[in-house]
Amino acid sequence: MTNKNLIERSLKAVWNPCSQMKQYEALPLIPINRGEGVWLYDFNDKRYLDAISSWWVNLFGHTNPQINHAIQDQLGKLEHVMLAGFTHEPVVKLSERLIKFAPVGLGHCFYSSDGASAIEAALKMSAHFWHNSGQPKKNNFVSLQNGYHGETLGALSVTDVAIFRNTYAPLLRNSARVPTPDWRYAEKGELPKDYALRAANHLESYLAKNHAVTAAFIIEPLVQGAVGMGMYHSDYLKYAREICNKYQVHLIADEIAVGFGRTGTMFACEQANITPDFLCLAKGLTSGYLPLSVAMTTESIYQSFYHEETTRAFLHSHTHAGNALACSVALATLDIFEQDKVINANHTKTKYLNDISKPIASHPKVKNFRNCGMIWAFEVETTDPSFSENFFQSSISQGLLLRPLSNTVYFMPPYIINNEEINFLVTKTLQVLDSC
Ligand SMILES: *Cc1c(COP(=O)(O)O)cnc(C)c1O
Repeated sequence: MTNKNLIERSLKAVWNPCSQMKQYEALPLIPINRGEGVWLYDFNDKRYLDAISSWWVNLFGHTNPQINHAIQDQLGKLEHVMLAGFTHEPVVKLSERLIKFAPVGLGHCFYSSDGASAIEAALKMSAHFWHNSGQPKKNNFVSLQNGYHGETLGALSVTDVAIFRNTYAPLLRNSARVPTPDWRYAEKGELPKDYALRAANHLESYLAKNHAVTAAFIIEPLVQGAVGMGMYHSDYLKYAREICNKYQVHLIADEIAVGFGRTGTMFACEQANITPDFLCLAKGLTSGYLPLSVAMTTESIYQSFYHEETTRAFLHSHTHAGNALACSVALATLDIFEQDKVINANHTKTKYLNDISKPIASHPKVKNFRNCGMIWAFEVETTDPSFSENFFQSSISQGLLLRPLSNTVYFMPPYIINNEEINFLVTKTLQVLDSC
């Protein structure tokens, strides 16, 4: 296989996600032959530093030997068995360990195959809980301005990204939005902490009026990923928890992107010391190897479904729920977190990257340089309507994979990135900034 041959065959047969296929005439697909560590290689062995962890999933590098070994080991025992009526060791061990890692009080794990499916499960479970509790009118959802929760119809209903949403608006159920706590929206001179309180007041007024018909409030804790890595003060999570308690509305924490150490703690909710009613996890759960997601919930929600009547049960099914290979990868991921003390090690990397990226933060074209754990982002002042494509192209030619969200450039590197690779990332980004 050659680069050219793979691209031609791909364009004939594969319909790529999140893509205007015609754009690939001008912006060719990048053919990947193999991966190792933070690097992806094409068929000429040209390599690219995967600075966005392949859509935010890869934690410990491509073809990680320890994870590869765990899959191979599991392959010899059991690849998959249906999870209705059956159980197996990897799914039990994984659930026990997730319960131990997660904020205290989340004692039950419901598995699906991807992020959006975990959101669908949490939304349905929340509304069904209120139904089981004799309050069937509580079946609406409220979410944040600029929130992203996936693109199946239920998840898209609580997503606020015009380009993903508008075309399908007639297919979606109406749901409410409240203002984002993202500090880029604060008044001049207003601190992120004060802006978080002001945003929380909007949530409170909304729920004061609508709690009787609202099942749940869904948020991405600390960082709103898809609409340009909007970051906010952890106080907002505290307020959200208090307000949801006061009005008897569930709090769904979508940690699909931020879970597993991205914000500097294992889970973002820890930074506000709160337990949501539902915690949705996917992406980093399997280090980017296999699709697997989980919606974790509390004893009281679980108990409302536990009954003689079948229809009170959560009759939601995904064929590959709790897949044994995927669970074995998730277990290997958690092993690495423990054995390598990853959360602590990342603090040192965060500090190093912050230190050496000062020239980016002070670059004349750069605004709002910000960092939360292992996520960095900044806006580039530009009048180029094709900025995102041009920046992508230019970084690819420098051997760097960055994929701006509109004019927001972000880094979300795999946690195994070393200082030399961080230097490469920062130096090349500066070169691309100067050329764009
Ligand atoms: C990626 C993402 C999803 C959707 O996950 P998929 O696996 O793509 O369905 C949902 N919420 C957040 C915050 C995400 O980043």
